[in-house]
Amino acid sequence: MGDKQAVDKQAVTVIGLGPMGRAMTRAFLAAGHPVTVWNRTASKADDLVAEGAVRADSIEGALAANELVVLSLTDYAAMYALLEPVVAALSGRVLVNLTSDTPEHARAAAAWAERHGARQLTGGVQSPPSGIGSPEMSTFYSGPTELFEAHRDTLAVLTGTDYRGTDPGLAALLYQLQMDIFWTSMLSALHALTVARAHGISAAEFLPYASSTAASVPGFLAFYAPRLDADEHVGDVDNLAMGVASVEHVLHTTRDAGVDAALPSAVLEIFRRGMAAGHGGDSFTSLSEVFRTA
Ligand code: NDP
Repeated sequence: MGDKQAVDKQAVTVIGLGPMGRAMTRAFLAAGHPVTVWNRTASKADDLVAEGAVRADSIEGALAANELVVLSLTDYAAMYALLEPVVAALSGRVLVNLTSDTPEHARAAAAWAERHGARQLTGGVQSPPSGIGSPEMSTFYSGPTELFEAHRDTLAVLTGTDYRGTDPGLAALLYQLQMDIFWTSMLSALHALTVARAHGISAAEFLPYASSTAASVPGFLAFYAPRLDADEHVGDVDNLAMGVASVEHVLHTTRDAGVDAALPSAVLEIFRRGMAAGHGGDSFTSLSEVFRTA
């Protein structure tokens, strides 16, 4: 039964065996997909081979083994470093590029792949390696629709799939937008927890309050998003002048605690640019206009 299952499932090549590629290989194996692996540092394939993966002797061999090739590399520069010397082996391949990078790089890579007879599906994986194999996790995909449809079931082994459209840059863009939110909000939380600890309040003690503030964000976003789309920044529930005073308090609280104030200083600088542009009576969402004039 196990053997029959393996025969029925689509064979996959995984190139790049960092934490992600390793988790992906294991998820494919667990779902009964034959997997060929290749990594620059060959030893990272050892345990995967012991678990049932096939090691390709060369990157050409990895590409030749299967039509469907998952790339899980640090960035697109790593992809070119690996694949540019072996472009003749790309013809006919479907590159599922789950490497994070910019939308522009994803678009350029899709065009580059097509010039060499391959096609690319771009992916933006919204999961840590530990979530690979969980349908509750999600990956943005974009690129040729029929390509996604043809491989949807296989890709669903990794995470839930969220196909967004044909633009090969779109999945990368949506991923980077998520990262924009993730890093700035995580850094702001880290900053607040650092100030708390400087006052002898442990991170664990403050955690419920940090979580409560984080949990309030979707409500604010839902309120402001339609106004943002309408370029409507009426200061009926908040205004920038009030925001400046509030951010100044955060800045001074930080300094008084002896904690680095670069983060609230940067926030204050942006608020002040909004004031200088005449938005003092408008909502903080008017800062979107400030961002757009960069
Ligand atoms: P890593 O950077 O740890 O590893 C990626 C692979 O890239 C390794 O196999 C490495 O080979 C290879 N590589 C890097 N540079 C080169 C090069 N110049 N030539 C050849 N091979 C190279 O990444 P992860 O596995 O953590 O992640 C893979 C992708 O998934 C990244 O784009 C990441 O942003 C994205 N991602 C990661 C998440 C995470 O939590 N880890 C979450 C969501 C997305 P070698 O082993 O030889 O160094």
